[in-house]
Amino acid sequence: MGEFAQLDNFLTQEGNKKSNLPAPVSPAWYEPESKTWYGQNDLSSLSKKEKQNLVSCTMFCQYATTGRSKCRRCGEVIEKDILRLGYPFRWRQQDPCFTMFLHTECYDPAVFGIKEKELRKKIYGYEALNNTERARLWKEMRSEGQHAAASKEGADATAEYSSGSVGRCTKSVPEVPVPKDLAVPMLPFQKEGLAWMCHQEESSVRGGILADEMGMGKTIQAISLLLARPIKGPCLVICPMAAVNQWMKEIEKFTKKGTLKTLVYHGSEKGRVATQFKKCDVVITTYQTLESDYRREAHKHRVKCKYCGKLFMPEKLTFHQRYFCGPNAEKTKKQQKTAAKKAMQSMGIGPSKSSSSTDTRAGPVNRVGHAERPAVPGAELVDLCEKKGLDSSGRKPELVDRLMDFAVRGKTDEPVKKARVVARREAGRGETGRGSPNGG
Ligand SMILES: [Zn+2]
Ligand SMILES: [Zn+2]
Repeated sequence: MGEFAQLDNFLTQEGNKKSNLPAPVSPAWYEPESKTWYGQNDLSSLSKKEKQNLVSCTMFCQYATTGRSKCRRCGEVIEKDILRLGYPFRWRQQDPCFTMFLHTECYDPAVFGIKEKELRKKIYGYEALNNTERARLWKEMRSEGQHAAASKEGADATAEYSSGSVGRCTKSVPEVPVPKDLAVPMLPFQKEGLAWMCHQEESSVRGGILADEMGMGKTIQAISLLLARPIKGPCLVICPMAAVNQWMKEIEKFTKKGTLKTLVYHGSEKGRVATQFKKCDVVITTYQTLESDYRREAHKHRVKCKYCGKLFMPEKLTFHQRYFCGPNAEKTKKQQKTAAKKAMQSMGIGPSKSSSSTDTRAGPVNRVGHAERPAVPGAELVDLCEKKGLDSSGRKPELVDRLMDFAVRGKTDEPVKKARVVARREAGRGETGRGSPNGG
């Protein structure tokens, strides 16, 4: 109940149009040279000389030096060279202050309460303005112009949205009584939410997105929906790991004892818990659990490729056999090239991955990049290809397939493995045995 009172309070305040501006640091001192604000507790860290430059004030006014600052109240950019206000703010007591900017029209009398005769004293920079500027500033400070305009715009948009075809205003949805098993009262907007959700369930949509702000009681609305429209069998709640406990607690707190039997399906207890689904009303699980369970289930449906024996999801198998495997596979020109390249790489011959587009077989520059897999000189490469059954262009389809298979699966395939060793040895000799290409 305490939380509800708080929430209610919060909402009433909103209704009273209490300012949404973060509270300024007050009293405050401004140091114009370094453009720094100081609060009461920062003063002790300053030297006497530093203190001399401080100006005691509530805010400052200045012409915007850039067009980058944003107004803290309306969120709009404050354009360059227009008069703006700045006031000190800090997140926590021990943090340094920084400046929050406002349009002059977005000044909020409820927060700063500066009277006309105090302007000179409380707004640093006011004195530097000429009479016209001063008069305009004061007029704008009292206008609440942009803010009022923005809220009117918001209200208009809401009205238009509500009457249009996109959504349905909840006001036109019949009310639903608060379920008697709910242990706490519902706030007006929560009742509206419940009515809307019930309405959605009965429509052809059968569902929707409840996107209230944090802390407005989405969970309680969802729970009330469960109570208002009991379904056959358990209801599945999928949420992040961090919210599992919250769901458990809220169900316990907001429903009368024994109304909703709840179960958490997650972690090592999963298997044991799964047998009891039918006995409960709510099953809470996590995204991870759902994902891994899905993957495991889906894998059961994999089928074997009759050519290579690997397991594939049915739709992937078609693709696999069309392009990669079996007598009917048609490799595109590009795939053939890549396959040949990969095969040669996995055998440790030919150009290395890092410098595939250049001629890698000669020149001192190339040698630098080849510490891992030394290049094989041209003649030896041709030799090796011949030995391994690759044609002069470095490709022999069946072998390439086997090599690919080997590279993908890491399956122990005796001949290929041997070939690899030979290739390594050959390659090694290429470098050490012959010395450097320019050394001979
Ligand atoms: Zn503004
Ligand atoms: Zn296959």
